[in-house]
Amino acid sequence: MMRKLILSVTLMWPFGAMAEGPAVAVDIAPLHSLVGMVMKDVGTPSLIVPQNASPHAHFLRPSEARALKQADLVVWIGPELTPWLEKPVTTLAQDAVILNLMDDPATQTLPFREGAAFESHEDHDHDHGHGHSEEEAHDPHVWLDPQNAARWLPRIAQLLSDIDPENKDTYAKNAQEAVASVEALDQELRERLEDLKARPFVVFHDAYHYFEARYGVEAVGAIAASDAQAPGPRRLREISDTIAATGAKCAFSEPGQSQDWITAVAPDIKVVELDPTGVRVDQTDQLYLEMMRGLEVSFRACLAE
Ligand SMILES: [Zn+2]
Repeated sequence: MMRKLILSVTLMWPFGAMAEGPAVAVDIAPLHSLVGMVMKDVGTPSLIVPQNASPHAHFLRPSEARALKQADLVVWIGPELTPWLEKPVTTLAQDAVILNLMDDPATQTLPFREGAAFESHEDHDHDHGHGHSEEEAHDPHVWLDPQNAARWLPRIAQLLSDIDPENKDTYAKNAQEAVASVEALDQELRERLEDLKARPFVVFHDAYHYFEARYGVEAVGAIAASDAQAPGPRRLREISDTIAATGAKCAFSEPGQSQDWITAVAPDIKVVELDPTGVRVDQTDQLYLEMMRGLEVSFRACLAE
């Protein structure tokens, strides 16, 4: 590693600082794609949580620890989504600029949903050691509202420009183009989801509050809690009752999760997969847009009559 480091410093020297762009580490694939859009023509960020891993429960691998250690900038949702990443960000990325989006004024957050069909969040935020009281606990699936994405892009461009002023015009132009793409996506989703409002459905885990709130569709319940842990028998009974009471005919599964939970409580329900982190999408800077469009396709496949 030392040799590689010396080599890259030597290579960079004749071209001036930041010839390869700043080192940026990003937690999840959708956010990685947004940062990638801003860094277009300058560099490529590193992804911490592999596309096929759950952000709620992943353990840092050596290559991911290295990306954090070398980072000039770390962009992450925050410990509410990835409690296991809090310590590595603090200890490994000591010299980096950290953008914690849950704590950033650019982010619009929603409280966790409560109620029998979701869960009591009394013990959701337990022992992560970041001192949030229950009143402050917010749903961390913030990227599923494109308005948040649109507000993050200029913020990311600003921080990149502070670190790498030489490329600030590129970052500003990229961010502007990316905001236009995200706003067009938002408009498109709003139009396409209009006729699917008020149709009851259940989700595998309570990840879609932001998407639902933005587009006026609404889950009647979640099979697993918002940290995607396996449901217990009491919870399955509650969901079964909710499905019967609301007449929900659609349930959403997720990549890597067994559909057995759903078919156990509602054998006749239609099951369609939702992919909230872009597991099924190629890892390019277009992942965010493709993932969000994929959600609409899934909603239509499950809810349209
Ligand atoms: Zn989640």
